[in-house]
Amino acid sequence: MPTRQPIVSVLGHVDHGKTTLLDQIRGTAVVKKEAGAITQHIGATEVPIEHIYAVCKQMIGSKKFDMPGLLFIDTPGHQSFTSLRARGGSLADLAVLVIDINEGIMPQTLESISILKRFKTPFIIAVNKVDLIEDWTVNKDEPFALNVRKQSDKAAASFDDKFYKIIGELYEHGYTADRYDRIEDFTKSIAIVPISAKNGIGLPDLLLMLIGLAQRFLEDTLEKEEGPAKGVILEVKEERGLGQTVDVIIYAGTLKKGDTVILGTKGKPLVTKVKAILKPKPLDEIRDPKDRFDSVKEVSAAIGVKLMCQSLEGVVSGGPLRAAGANPDEARDEVSNETKVNIELKDDGIYIKADALGSLEALAYECNKAGIPIRKYDTGLISRKDLIDASAYGESVHRVIMGFNVGLLPDAKDAQPSYPNLKVFTSDVVYRLIEEYTEWMEEEKRRLDEEKRSEFAFPGKVRLLPNCVFRASKPAIVGVRVLGGRIRPGQSLIDIGGNTVGKIRSIRDGEESIKEAIQGDEKAVAIDGPTVGRQINEEDILYVDLRETSIKEMEKMDITEDDRMVIEELKEIKRKTDKFWGM
Ligand code: GDP
Repeated sequence: MPTRQPIVSVLGHVDHGKTTLLDQIRGTAVVKKEAGAITQHIGATEVPIEHIYAVCKQMIGSKKFDMPGLLFIDTPGHQSFTSLRARGGSLADLAVLVIDINEGIMPQTLESISILKRFKTPFIIAVNKVDLIEDWTVNKDEPFALNVRKQSDKAAASFDDKFYKIIGELYEHGYTADRYDRIEDFTKSIAIVPISAKNGIGLPDLLLMLIGLAQRFLEDTLEKEEGPAKGVILEVKEERGLGQTVDVIIYAGTLKKGDTVILGTKGKPLVTKVKAILKPKPLDEIRDPKDRFDSVKEVSAAIGVKLMCQSLEGVVSGGPLRAAGANPDEARDEVSNETKVNIELKDDGIYIKADALGSLEALAYECNKAGIPIRKYDTGLISRKDLIDASAYGESVHRVIMGFNVGLLPDAKDAQPSYPNLKVFTSDVVYRLIEEYTEWMEEEKRRLDEEKRSEFAFPGKVRLLPNCVFRASKPAIVGVRVLGGRIRPGQSLIDIGGNTVGKIRSIRDGEESIKEAIQGDEKAVAIDGPTVGRQINEEDILYVDLRETSIKEMEKMDITEDDRMVIEELKEIKRKTDKFWGM
């Protein structure tokens, strides 16, 4: 069976070298123009097998593979990996995870591994920037297998240090990995290829490993599918002189000019006709900047092309494309199914947004894992309408919009200060979103607890200080020391006999009226009701009067031992008249 090229995605932490690696792969192409040169697609770069034979000659001799080459997706990162969906998984058949050897495992590294594992996508790790190791001998484009033999003892030792640290870290996170040339069973260990993306060191090894991985794990997936085209939408783009166009990667079948295609939108699938199939013109053939594309009659998978269609109304990035073929209804159902997102919604929960369907699902998956309920989801930038919507959600910890790889539209940004009770989190790292939300939510819960607590009368115990009666009655103004808990205006006080003595009208600190006095404070207090010398006297102990229900609430909360003691004393007083009070 003839096979198509495996589609390869590059993932990894920011600045670890994903773009440089893709540039290097593309770069080799532009220079070499002979047969087997790399071709630039729309949104992807093709490395033909002849190119791999040429650059790997030192390693493989005249060995040949049953594969036409590799197709690299040009947009690196796990967002693009998860956004571009096909066959219920990622469009990418294989992945390269880039790790900076000097930085090691970072949050997005782990996030990428966990996504790759979840999608069951075979991948290799490229440990990048080996050229930065002290004393490293850099030979451009050399296979790592050869390059490593030319290093001084010092460079080799320093490399080993850093390299094994990464293997150790991976192991700690539950992943077994080793240098690719030391692995016996590739089903058990992740292969690591040391590279320098900048200098091309290790690139031959990397390409070879990818071919090997494809042969080992993808035989069935890569069988060339005949029939109408299946693809994934990269993006809808306005092109000068052409109008609206859509970039797609075709991963199965054949697409012809004039074909009826069905495209994924947020709503009903769009049925339209392909007016033109465009491929980028080789750089040196472009005479006029307006004339950047070649129009072709038909293309076969795997390939990235730009399409002009009769309509592109509502088409979504990451959505599916199907050529109608002989069975348009079936194709429409498929598009409809693939556009559906599989996210469980709850009556109470947060609002999540992402740039594409796949990334939305990835975010939902992580929310689910972290126990964060979702009430609503959508793709696209965060709008003013979204703010209005989410700010009306019930619980304050759910008045939240999480944006994965999407920011706020300008009008939403302007309107944001009008919604102080709404929290918006945006990031291009799911981990960070989950972490930031969880941290904020815990803080918010603490705050709410605190607020709730202050709604209840809090336990409090005071002693009337000697020689501090400023006024005998109406209201009585006396100096008190707070022995436990706290007192606030509005609270009722009882004496140790359980008799109500009056209500705190105000608490003063010098000239200032204050909201509360806490344990240890000595303040002047105005009490409505009693007269000093009758209901109250110097040295008397008074307690804040509490309802049984408040006590039960408080006992559930996180209160100090001192507060608990005041509550116990109050219970004892109350039980003199009601044996079961507070039980
Ligand atoms: P990305 O965010 O993962 O796409 O990372 P980039 O490809 O943009 O690389 C981040 C920085 O690392 C850039 O300044 C690159 O020039 C640099 N860089 C990438 N690969 C290498 C390498 O192999 N060696 C060295 N010395 N620098 C590199």
